[in-house]
Amino acid sequence: MIAAMDHASAQPTLRTRCITAGRPRGAGAPLNAPLVPASNFAYADGGPGATRAYSREDGTPTWEALEATIGALEGADAARCTTFASGMAAIAAVFELLDAGARVALPDDCYQGVRALADEGASKGRWSLEFVRVDDTDGWTGALERCDMLWIESPSNPLLALSDLAAIGTAAQRHDALLVVDNTFATPIAQRPLERGADVVVHSATKFIGGHSDLLCGATIARDGGVADALRHTRGRSGATPGALEAFLALRGARTLALRVEAASQAALELAHRLEAHAAVARVRHPGLPSHPQHALAAVQLDGFGAMLSFDVVDARAADALCAALEVVHHATSLGGVESTIERRAALAGQAHLPAGLVRLSVGIEDVEDLWSDLDRALARALA
Ligand SMILES: *Cc1c(COP(=O)(O)O)cnc(C)c1O
Repeated sequence: MIAAMDHASAQPTLRTRCITAGRPRGAGAPLNAPLVPASNFAYADGGPGATRAYSREDGTPTWEALEATIGALEGADAARCTTFASGMAAIAAVFELLDAGARVALPDDCYQGVRALADEGASKGRWSLEFVRVDDTDGWTGALERCDMLWIESPSNPLLALSDLAAIGTAAQRHDALLVVDNTFATPIAQRPLERGADVVVHSATKFIGGHSDLLCGATIARDGGVADALRHTRGRSGATPGALEAFLALRGARTLALRVEAASQAALELAHRLEAHAAVARVRHPGLPSHPQHALAAVQLDGFGAMLSFDVVDARAADALCAALEVVHHATSLGGVESTIERRAALAGQAHLPAGLVRLSVGIEDVEDLWSDLDRALARALA
């Protein structure tokens, strides 16, 4: 599932980059980037400006090791990646790139925090919004004519619709609009938007990159050095910096990202097939299913179909009963952990447009047979 070694350029594979990127080198160096809980660093003889002085402005070795790793996975150099206190902090920094009165295109199915941030900014007159269906390529390329920024999430949350990144990315190169892709769901193991023409990639590293549901962290990766510098500058101004421990843990998580995503994606595909054949399940959404309306695009755009899926049971009551009856899968929000989590999304604020009986499942790395027994038993109980 993971791209083969590119022998021509001798670039290590993504699986190898997860392990080798961001490590200290040299005789006597620790193999792991140290956890450096420091706000300030000793001046060089030259005084201020000669070396790293204050972490909010200048970063720390721990953040930089994580940035080197995420940057390497997205195919960018380390200086192009900036880590933040959370995914939303990274996203807010990207919106800060906009001049007053800018126009932004957002997907109709969008992470609810992004939608809330965009709506609140619009209601204060900071920017104006238009909405495009996730899978409407002409809608996205048309929006390039009017907009200063296109915000894309693909696969989308929780409907698992895709945007054609190569088609939109190619069109975006003829426009000034910034093409931003939230790559949290796919992870760089499955999808590298910069290669398809995106200008900025954002991550909630809270999810798959951290991978253990024990931290909040975010990242931006920019193609252009000027944009990368602006995002770094905004982090210094807003102070939305990652914690030292969080950055250390996110880096430890990133070391196993490829293995976790590969295992969870295989299990998700197997569960998607079995759920689709289950009498109590009306509809399953997963890009790896031949029934997914964009399965052909998914096969080209994604290396592996990802660990996320959603499916519909008859109504909200059945969905709630299903979530409550599960014992291996946790009834909890969020995604991307080693442990599987499930929730009924229409129960969340701002998600009323979703089918009432839709549940979103983030598949972890438990044994797939144990996950299936749990789901099968809970479905029977919920629908009894
Ligand atoms: C969770 C999430 C975010 C927000 O990230 P936080 O780390 O919770 O601030 C943004 N986008 C997507 C797709 C997410 O799943």
